[in-house]
This record gives sequence, structure tokens and C-alpha cells, in this order.
Amino acid sequence: MSDQSFDVIVIGGGPGGYIAAIRAAQLGMTVACVEKRGALGGTCLNVGCIPSKALLHSSHLFEQTKAGLANQGVKVSGVELDLATMLVRKDKVVTDLTKGVEFLFKKHKITWLKGAGRLAGNGKVEVKSDGKNDTYTAKNIIIATGSESTPLPGIAIDEQKIVTSTGALALPKVPGHLVVIGAGFIGLEMGSVWRRLGAKVTVIEFLDRILPTMDGEVGREMQKILTKQGLAFRLGTKVTGAKASANGVELTVEPAKGGAAEKLSADVVLVSVGRLPNTEGLGAKEAGIKLDNRGRIEVDGSFRTSVPGIYAIGDVIAGPMLAHKAMDEGEIVAEIIAGQSGHMNYDTVPGIVYTHPEAASVGKTEEELKAAGVNYRAGKFPMSVNSRSRCTGDLEGFVKILADAKTDRVLGVHIIGAQAGTMIAELVLAMEFGASAEDVARTCHGHPTESEAVKEAALAVAGRTLHL
Ligand code: FAD
Repeated sequence: MSDQSFDVIVIGGGPGGYIAAIRAAQLGMTVACVEKRGALGGTCLNVGCIPSKALLHSSHLFEQTKAGLANQGVKVSGVELDLATMLVRKDKVVTDLTKGVEFLFKKHKITWLKGAGRLAGNGKVEVKSDGKNDTYTAKNIIIATGSESTPLPGIAIDEQKIVTSTGALALPKVPGHLVVIGAGFIGLEMGSVWRRLGAKVTVIEFLDRILPTMDGEVGREMQKILTKQGLAFRLGTKVTGAKASANGVELTVEPAKGGAAEKLSADVVLVSVGRLPNTEGLGAKEAGIKLDNRGRIEVDGSFRTSVPGIYAIGDVIAGPMLAHKAMDEGEIVAEIIAGQSGHMNYDTVPGIVYTHPEAASVGKTEEELKAAGVNYRAGKFPMSVNSRSRCTGDLEGFVKILADAKTDRVLGVHIIGAQAGTMIAELVLAMEFGASAEDVARTCHGHPTESEAVKEAALAVAGRTLHL
């Protein structure tokens, strides 16, 4: 038993939790963070954003070196894949970053309580590890327990042949045929990695479009681009079963709207149909914390749960399940606990798909604006006309800016391009400042850069592009 007490105990050491802990410590509070995984950094650093981006980078280099350099006058031969080294490098990137968070905890005198945390009532948190059970007290508790992969009924995950993204980040050999269930960002990123490394990849999606949360035009264009790269799509298709055997996996699929079932075989199946909030074993319900109908912890605009003194942030509450959203919420909740004010603008949370080209979005989609009856103007500029894209050869994609027809205020931006994830940042800032499309158009953009396509798309809102 322990009777240690803290100003703040954070449960979960992912991007939401570790940032909340650091900010609370910076603001002079005594802080502990409970994390049951062997390393800090949560899903994002250990089995999410970071290892996936490391593999996306390495596999892109492999594909470019094998086939993309010759037309630029760079001749290479004998290019071979050394998957073991690629995976070891990915693991090292992860370890370096998770150790970095551990260093930051030491620097800010944050106590890492190793084990599984459980709410024990009256400001108490029970931490269980290796048969030990310690109880700690806190004036404030922040729940940041994140999320985990959504299972599909009737499909047993073994992380060998039927895998979640965690297994897909560590396949010891390139599968002959990888079937990806779910055409969201995780499915497309992991599908791209293994296709580049030599797998045949089929993506099965229940809906009749890919990237369902993004702008419709982005979804359609990305489907064309990824199909050209070799990904096969089966849209409007439901997977009703998958059985692993010594020879691989046999899947049963049928049209989403009903119809004849069909068998498909694969060497590996990736189930990437979304993520579920993680409240398992937390004692949230027993503590009186209200959950919504999707099992997420309900909070108010200041991240307060229904129990005084207990807050929640990140994937375990509503909103886009993204690391930067969790981190911003972590920073804000610590400031609120310290008596400062803070608020999160969910209209300016960017979403990025790290395929090649990348897709990036912020704000409203055209479909959302139409549904809300908003009168808007769209300005669009193709990357193929951008001079820097001509230099690099990355000609696919466009920048699309949606602005209010009357006020010209930027309401949404949707980009496909090799640098889309970086380019979106200026539009996020523009939207934070309530910029008009004209403000963006009159901003001087370096030449030659892909970002000039942003200026041109902003000019296109007023019907006056300069290079088209
Ligand atoms: P998490 O990162 O899930 O962390 C929660 C932590 O809490 C975990 O470490 C868990 O072990 C711990 N925990 C849970 N319960 C307890 C308990 N009772 N006691 C102690 N510890 C507990 N997002 C992006 O923004 N960009 C990307 O490129 C991106 N790529 C992704 C790729 C993949 C393959 C995946 C799976 C996700 C990706 N995400 C990405 C999403 C991102 O990882 C999550 O949105 C983010 O990690 C959420 O942060 P969090 O702090 O809320 O939770």
C-alpha cells in the first residue's frame, strides 16, 4: 500500500496523457502518470503514428529506388529489400521517441506509476502491477486511456495471419496477398506499405467510397491514384467471416446491400475498421462516470466528466481519434486545472493520410456545407500546374479551398499532394485567425514551392488564378 498523493494523476501515458502530465508539471503541480504498457507514448508512439510513418518512409524509398529514379537520370540496379533491417530501424525510431518521453518525465519530476490504473473513488487511483496493488490520491484525475482496434464479429485476431494495425506493423515477411478490411487512413497507409514491398493488396470497404470522413472529391481522386499504384478496391462489400489455417486465411464476403456470398483467400488479413474507446478495467461506470452510446467518456467543454475532479481527454472522448487532437486537449486540460482558461477549436483539427501522395483536410467538406445549406465558393488548383511539382515529378492532386460565398471566410481546405500534410498547416492557422480566401491569396508564398498551389486555389475562389 502507498499513501502518496499528487495534485494530478493522469491515467494513460499516450500523447494526450503525457502532454497533460508535462503541462501540469510546468504549471507547478505534483504529477503522476499511470501507464501499463512497458513504454510511454501510448498507441501513437508505440504502435500507431510513429512506426507506421517510419515504414511508410522506408517503403517509399524502396519503391522509388527500384522504379522511380530512372526517369530522373539516376540509374540503380540490384535493389533488394532487407525487411528485417527495415523493421529493426522502425523499432529503433519508436524506442528513441518513447525514451524521449521518459526523459521529459524525469526532467519535469513526473512520477511514472507502472501498472494498470483503476478509479477507486474519493480521488483515489489503484495501480495494479505484478500482483502488487497500490493506492494513490489526487486532487485531480485525468483519464487518457485512449483506444484500441475495433474487432469484427466472427473474426478472431491472432496477430499473425489475422492482424490489427499492431500486427501489420511487424509482419516478418511480405505477404503474397494482403486483404485489408476498411478503407480508412490506417488501412490505406498499411496497405500502401505492404504493396510497395511487393504484396498484392485488396482493400475491402463496406461503404461505397474510401476515406469516408474526408471530402468526397478527395476520396474519389485518392481511389483513382491508389488504384493506379496497384491497390485493388472492393467497395460496398461486407466481410462476414475469416478463418485462418496453415495455408492462409479464407474470407467470406458479400455485397453490403445483400446478395450472393463469395470466398476470397489471403495470406494475411488486416482488420482496420476503426477504433474503440478504452475504458476496460478502469472502473469508470462504478465511479459514476457517464459514457455516451458509443462507450466514450462524456465531458463538457472543459473536459470535466460527470464526476467532480475527474477529467477525460484524447481518443477516450468524442472527436477525431488523432494524436494532435489528444495532445492539444492534454495541454488545455492541465491549464484549466491550474485555473487558467482554454478551449479546443474542433473546426481546425487537421486530418492527414500519409500515403503518397498525401491527403490532408481541415474544416468542412463540400458534403457538410451542402447538408448545412451554407452558400460557399470553391477554388481549386491542380498540383500538375505547380512549378515545384513539375521539378519533383509529383504531379498528382490538387488544393481545394471552400470559402463562405458572402464573407469569403475559409470554411474548409482539402489537399492531395506529396506535401499535403505540411501544406495544410498554413490553412489551419489561417482558419484559426478567421482568414478570408483573399487573405490567403494576398499572402506572399515562396517560389518555387508546392504551397504556391494554396495561393492559387485561394485566388481561384475569386475566379482569378494566375497560372491556369
Ligand atoms: P493512446 O495513445 O491510445 O494512449 C493511451 C495509453 O493509455 C496507452 O498507452 C494504454 O496502454 C494506456 N492505458 C489504457 N488503459 C490504462 C489503464 N487502465 N491504466 C494504465 N494505462 C492505461 N494519429 C495521428 O494524429 N496521426 C497519425 O499519423 C496516426 N497514425 C496512426 C496509425 C495507427 C496504425 C494507429 C493505430 C493510430 C494512429 N493515429 C494517428 C491515432 C493516434 O495514435 C491516437 O489518436 C492517439 O494515440 C490517441 O492518444 P491518447 O493519448 O488518447 O491514447
